[in-house]
Amino acid sequence: MTDVSTKREDMIPAEVHGRRLQAMRGEVLRLMDDVVSNGVYHAGPHTERLERDVQETWGGHVVAASSGTMALETAVRALGLGPGDEVIVPTLTFPATAFAVAAAGATTVFADIDPVTRTLTAETVEAALTPRTRAVVPVHMYGLMADMTALSALAQRYAISVIEDCAQAAGATCHGRHAGTFGDFGCFSLWVGKNFGGLGDAGLVLTSDESLLPQVRMLLNLGRDKDRDIHHLRGSRGRIAETDAAVAAHQLPLLPDWINQRRHHAHRYNEAFGDLPLTLPADAEGRPHTYYKYPVTAPTEQDAGRLSEALKNAGVKAEQLYPYRVQEQPAFRDLPFRQTETSAAADLLPRTLCLPIAPEHTTDEIDRVITAVRNSF
Ligand SMILES: *Cc1c(COP(=O)(O)O)cnc(C)c1O
Repeated sequence: MTDVSTKREDMIPAEVHGRRLQAMRGEVLRLMDDVVSNGVYHAGPHTERLERDVQETWGGHVVAASSGTMALETAVRALGLGPGDEVIVPTLTFPATAFAVAAAGATTVFADIDPVTRTLTAETVEAALTPRTRAVVPVHMYGLMADMTALSALAQRYAISVIEDCAQAAGATCHGRHAGTFGDFGCFSLWVGKNFGGLGDAGLVLTSDESLLPQVRMLLNLGRDKDRDIHHLRGSRGRIAETDAAVAAHQLPLLPDWINQRRHHAHRYNEAFGDLPLTLPADAEGRPHTYYKYPVTAPTEQDAGRLSEALKNAGVKAEQLYPYRVQEQPAFRDLPFRQTETSAAADLLPRTLCLPIAPEHTTDEIDRVITAVRNSF
């Protein structure tokens, strides 16, 4: 089949963060000039500002990192997890969540997701528990938080740690409390295409326990504290660049408006698709959706394939996020893992497509997506 998608000039892309940066080009250039003028490329005023502003906006204690992956790896290591320890991770996530567990030599235990919220639940986590379970990593998938009230209670009951993967849920809340402030750790990605971010790759580690901060900072700075010649432990090269910190700090106050714009697009989709045989994303009790993605699920895999083809022909790029359960990835042939029943995810993934929903998508583009989806039925 020829790929018309790459030839169309009026193709509506799934990801449009290039437009976001273009729209703030002057400010970005001014910030880059400031970094070069300061002559400080790490651990400078922009990093300090980002950490302070995130802490004041969401809570927790904050250390900026070089990526979301690095933030997750650091949290796993700061908990002292290693070989023989089990960490429960959803089977539906970006593989980085599970790689962070594997990087410490611990065993990843894949648990199923709830078919409505697409997140871990107390039930699926409980089904994966063993005496070796040390931690659970709820992923706030597509911008909707997992039920942290139930998961925190479960973790407390079994005395296991919680690392929230908030890479897709910056600015999301559960009963008014921000993502990343429930667990022992909250890990964020500030990759340029996430809900807000820097210029390239960056991330954040939040912790509820201030006494863990020095350890987190050392792990992200090759094990060094103040003295650059003393490495207290085997850390990573994981600190954020001032350039990324500057752009992320500039974007943080814009995030609420961007989330509102995502909700506005979602509302239009919800209105337009209500009579179609598609399962649409929605808020959960106490957890408003922030729509990092807008996943729609068709009745069958064939229906999803037809929808995808129709969208492509209408110039709309829909993404499959994600096509495989993580443990199906070839990388897991050589990594320690166990899987529980993950049939809900197996059933949903091949039937699910994500529609364009960034704040930078125009009303016209959303209209075109609506028409294309409706015409395909
Ligand atoms: C993006 C993402 C990550 C990794 O973050 P990076 O900044 O790309 O390293 C981890 N988990 C989830 C769920 C993500 O979407």
